[in-house]
Amino acid sequence: MITRRKTRQIKVGSVKIGGGAGVSIQSMTKTDTRNVTKIVAQVKELEKLGCEIIRVAVKDSEAAKAIRKIKAKINIPLVADIHFRYNLAIESMNSGADKIRLNPGNIKTKEDIAQVVKLAKKKKIPIRIGVNSGSLPGMRQRLRGALNSEAMVKAASNYIKLFEALNFHDIIVSLKASDVVTTIDAYRRMAKVCNYPFHLGITAAGASECGIIKSAVGIGTLLAEGIGDTIRVSLTGQPEEEVLTAKGILTSLGLRASGVDIISCPTCGRCEVDLVKVVNKLTEKLSTANCQLPTRPLKVAIMGCVVNGPGEATDADIGIAAGKKNGTLFKKGKAVRKIKEEDFVKTLLKEIRNL
Ligand code: SF4
Repeated sequence: MITRRKTRQIKVGSVKIGGGAGVSIQSMTKTDTRNVTKIVAQVKELEKLGCEIIRVAVKDSEAAKAIRKIKAKINIPLVADIHFRYNLAIESMNSGADKIRLNPGNIKTKEDIAQVVKLAKKKKIPIRIGVNSGSLPGMRQRLRGALNSEAMVKAASNYIKLFEALNFHDIIVSLKASDVVTTIDAYRRMAKVCNYPFHLGITAAGASECGIIKSAVGIGTLLAEGIGDTIRVSLTGQPEEEVLTAKGILTSLGLRASGVDIISCPTCGRCEVDLVKVVNKLTEKLSTANCQLPTRPLKVAIMGCVVNGPGEATDADIGIAAGKKNGTLFKKGKAVRKIKEEDFVKTLLKEIRNL
């Protein structure tokens, strides 16, 4: 069992962050925010996949105004990502943004922050203080390892003081570096000095496999230590992949209220079915947006032979221990019947839906 770090609770629209709430999944749209039709289509797809909070880039007034139209057509809370111009935060809040992300590296003056905080307080809108190793305030940090994570924590702490001086505590913190070890170290340090909830992520993690691995190691390590309240996987690629990866990270740690954790062996010379095909097919079916999943976490084991198969299948909610072109189906720890290899996926999907 993971003991979660105790934090304040912040509300982003209808989603609670920290203070015992489940770890929520975020993503960011990748098209121009001013093109409402495209953004809405992207958000709808992500919603279906399990994205719970969406962030959009606000680079000008037109983008800030578009938030109102986008919000009218989506169901999940929207975060406005603000850099350089504090007035875009004001415009975004007036357009209905549920949360604002500010970067301490480029919105710096007390006066600008005071303007944003004044309206955020009035509208009860939380602010994420989003430190990024690529845009640390002051001189550009080129220090590596522990020193860089220290600089990130210092930047966040100094920035937080400006908000606290204005009696504003509706804060979420992120400390993202492109380096996994630096990111982990920064969050661990920050966890010792504040009780604000954390948004976790590895920034600029790369594409596909590279980004997925870095994110899983970085975000997963912290979550396993109980650190982290909402996560965003950043990939050079489609946002759908970000959401599926985030779901996978949470499922693997037992931190999702629903979802299927697939346990399958690597196969070896003993295996007499095409296990790779079966597992890939099942994974693909379970990942589709319209797949009806049970409302609780499930373990599904698909094992290649009788060496470890019956053991893993017995421990899972549903499992198959394969034999020669067939397998034994296990349900809730008991062997129930033999099934043919070609029926593995169909049978598992049916059983998952019926649980
Ligand atoms: S469960 Fe069987 S097929 Fe799979 S890796 Fe182990 S020994 Fe090989």
